[in-house]
Amino acid sequence: MLVVRDLVKVYPGPVAALQGVSLDVPKGMFGLLGPNGAGKSTFMKILAGILEPTSGSVQLDGVDVLKDPPHLWSRLGYLPQEFGFYPHLSGEAMLRYLLELKGVEAPGGLKALVAELLERVNLAFAAKRKVKGYSGGMRQRLGIAQAIAGNPQLIIVDEPTAGLDPDERLRLYRILAELASERTVLLSTHIVEDVSVLCPRFAVIRGGKLLALTTPSEARVALAGTIHEGQVPESGLAALRGSARVTSAILFEGENRVRVHVTEGRAPEGFGPVEANLEDAYLVMMRRAEEADRRPEAVGGRV
Ligand code: ADP
Repeated sequence: MLVVRDLVKVYPGPVAALQGVSLDVPKGMFGLLGPNGAGKSTFMKILAGILEPTSGSVQLDGVDVLKDPPHLWSRLGYLPQEFGFYPHLSGEAMLRYLLELKGVEAPGGLKALVAELLERVNLAFAAKRKVKGYSGGMRQRLGIAQAIAGNPQLIIVDEPTAGLDPDERLRLYRILAELASERTVLLSTHIVEDVSVLCPRFAVIRGGKLLALTTPSEARVALAGTIHEGQVPESGLAALRGSARVTSAILFEGENRVRVHVTEGRAPEGFGPVEANLEDAYLVMMRRAEEADRRPEAVGGRV
């Protein structure tokens, strides 16, 4: 179990990137969902031991990892948002180099371990190809391969699906889900689908503060009966956005299929109730937080 308490990070500026985040992360897959600038990477970097917090504590299975970083390093696999590869190396050579840097022990030899890891992330077919020819998804899988070397009990992956096409994303989902069956995987993302597909529990972060700690079904149930859907011509969309809380507007057969969140009064003419999805729940949380920020007594993200 990973236990985070009152984590604060103030960057020079000053920017309060984390404003007292507390979180318990159990075994399995756990999502950290939030928009760009929410503080996700800052949080992940602190947990990975590469950034010092201004204050707060992080414990892994009862050990304070900020005071005892080696305890963490031997148990952690980390895939940062920006992962540097040497483009002219083959996938195999790149992975071997990363394992050497990491000091991973390989009783059966590094060559065998590299082959086994590439197999696990479905990259064996491209072992000899140069990394510069890899797609975004293949690079992410190579990053996962180095993160899982040494069989860490905690894996931290920061926005791994950003920029991947749907097939690549699906492939990465399968690998991450398999990894989470045996250990803790902490996944940060701004993509709601990542959470709905992968995470039995997740936290929502915005402006350096936790907004929610919930499950996808709890988040959906909380909106039961409040989401309505209807079709609206393009010309009517702006007016609707002014008068109703629109959670999404998707073009469908040339018309806008619009979902609105209705808590008081009636749904717009022609709209009918539908089941809430996680996207609705996330957008409603974000809107409520924005409205709270706009209230005169609200304190902003800067200190
Ligand atoms: P996310 O990963 O959710 O996009 P980040 O953790 O990268 O969010 O950033 C949180 C806030 O901290 C943002 O306002 C960002 O501009 C700021 N920030 C991040 N890194 C630095 C830094 N090194 N110096 C100053 N501000 C930073």
